[in-house]
Amino acid sequence: MKKWVVGNWKMNGSLDMMNAFVPAFLDTLMESSGWETRVRVGICPPSAYLCNLTNFLTGYPVDVGAQNVHHESHGAFTGEVSPAMLKDVGVKLSLVGHSERRQLFGETDVQVREKLNALVAEGLTAILCVGETLAERESGKESEIVATQVNNALDGFDGAQSKRLVVAYEPIWAIGTGKTASPQQANEMHAHIRGILRQALGDETGNDIPVLYGGSVNPENADSLIAEPEINGMLVGGASLKPETFLSIIQSSNI
Ligand code: PEP
Repeated sequence: MKKWVVGNWKMNGSLDMMNAFVPAFLDTLMESSGWETRVRVGICPPSAYLCNLTNFLTGYPVDVGAQNVHHESHGAFTGEVSPAMLKDVGVKLSLVGHSERRQLFGETDVQVREKLNALVAEGLTAILCVGETLAERESGKESEIVATQVNNALDGFDGAQSKRLVVAYEPIWAIGTGKTASPQQANEMHAHIRGILRQALGDETGNDIPVLYGGSVNPENADSLIAEPEINGMLVGGASLKPETFLSIIQSSNI
């Protein structure tokens, strides 16, 4: 399976930042050949910059992704953007159910499911984010919490669309905290998620869905995370904002 490395810029960046980031990033990335057969790379900027980034990256093997989407195609939903609109401007991916969306904006499992289905129906790839809080892990509930999130998101999911599904395990206690899950902790949860996917969608389909790790991934820990057999790639927040750190994580995944 191809490895995935996706950057989530969250609400960071600017035109100036992109004008500096993109040439530096592409110059180094395109120096080596063949990596794109092994790694799929994406960047999710703030929605204000989606068009700029798709223009910058046209013709390069780097996908642009959104950080959020609305499940309806159009209508009176002030402030929202639909999958069809994302597709219209060349966006290929979207995060769904990032923990910041769930925690800060009250996004529910039902909304996550609606968004996921709307994205794949439009031909976009949905990166379903799941993960437990520190309190949930400390009380031994992490497997149950993650199973509920995955199963609720996939309730009624059309297995024929599974080529457009990616799951990202992001323990909330590891996001933006500098505290990473150990490779073994992450691998164990990824194996659990793989089992849930197989149960929900059948062995063959469930085995083909990439499961990424996210939570304070950086150039120092990327090698040991990606070396784990169940980790198929990484969702990267802070370290995706600088070309050199993001490139280093892509290089770790080029195996
Ligand atoms: C994220 O926001 O998805 C994330 C993993 O952030 P960070 O890498 O900064 O922890």
